Amino acid sequence: MRAEFLPFHRHDISQAEIDSVVETLKSPWITSGPKVREFEQNFAEYVGAKHALAVTSCTAALHLALEALGIKEGDEVLVPTMTFTATAEAVMYLRAKPVLVDVRRDTLNIDLKDAEKKINVRTKAIMPVHVAGLPADLEGVHHLARLNGLKVIEDAAHAFPTKYRAKFIGSVSDATCFSFYATKTMTTGEGGMLTTNSDAVAERVRMMRQHGLNRDVWKRRDDVDSWYYEVLESGFKYNMPDINAALGVAQLKRAEEFRAKRENISRFYREAFSDIECLSLPSDVEPDGLHSWHLFTLKLDPQKAGMSRSQLTRSLKERNIGTSVHWIPLHLHPFYQRHFGVKPEDFDGGTWLSERIFSLPIYPGMTETDIKDVVGAVRQILT
Ligand SMILES: *Cc1c(COP(=O)(O)O)cnc(C)c1O
Repeated sequence: MRAEFLPFHRHDISQAEIDSVVETLKSPWITSGPKVREFEQNFAEYVGAKHALAVTSCTAALHLALEALGIKEGDEVLVPTMTFTATAEAVMYLRAKPVLVDVRRDTLNIDLKDAEKKINVRTKAIMPVHVAGLPADLEGVHHLARLNGLKVIEDAAHAFPTKYRAKFIGSVSDATCFSFYATKTMTTGEGGMLTTNSDAVAERVRMMRQHGLNRDVWKRRDDVDSWYYEVLESGFKYNMPDINAALGVAQLKRAEEFRAKRENISRFYREAFSDIECLSLPSDVEPDGLHSWHLFTLKLDPQKAGMSRSQLTRSLKERNIGTSVHWIPLHLHPFYQRHFGVKPEDFDGGTWLSERIFSLPIYPGMTETDIKDVVGAVRQILT
């Protein structure tokens, strides 16, 4: 057994990132400025989007995206139940209603048959989540959206870098929202990015992320002073500081290195667990896709294993292996049950998954010994 506990996640920050942040700290500008612009340009180029706007979190990006796309009180927005509460919470910031949609047992992603059933005249948008970094069926999502006049806002908190049909996530929908929270595939400590190909959405988000101020008055008038601005709307305070962007610029350069390392770990796990009958391996991408491998999520069959998922994660902890569960689906949380009257039996896939899924450590800093220790512990418990 391992002597030291292997955490579920550890960030990977090299000297290059530290130097980049220190350089900004010593510069005359620490809040949103040149580093944010550089980070935005590099990110937009990476995913192939016309615009990228850096903000303080993915939650902020989701809020701004919904606002810019006109979601308002009384509207309904389709949200998969297998997600973090932030996806649905952002809808409620605008006094709109998140309508929970079931998910598929195989991919953990949104079940479009259930989504279709939940569309009515109030439905204005759909928010696919690419769980673990496996792209949702975007062709199906866009088809449903076109037929019903819905906006598509992707929650891509797990999906950088991820490709669907040879295109990066972030390049195709009305808006796509990424997270740079400490545990995600790359980090700025806290932070998020919104990408869009729409000039109108980008302009609205740029204004609303900073108090609804318009600093571009000089574009209309040539007699303005440098201190002049106009408040055009009641906005928010969501702008990313340059300190965080400096970390982002340096992490972005390592994004593919990180992804390739996680993919290697996923291959090793796949091979190592292929003969364990009570475990199902995660779905893989189509040949022209790219999986970010943010998470490696297995499904335990409690009957075949003769133990519950909790018994398994506790046994792994006793063997000094950290695990996590992504997630307890939203329809099982007290808030969503109380406010929306959702019940376990209404979500066949989500409820089925909620007793089975668990995630193993998968991050670039894992050594070969770490990876083998995880495999050894899982095999010892389940075989
Ligand atoms: C982490 C996460 C978020 C929230 O990201 P923040 O940057 O912390 O706001 C939203 N959605 C999903 C699916 C996430 O995993």
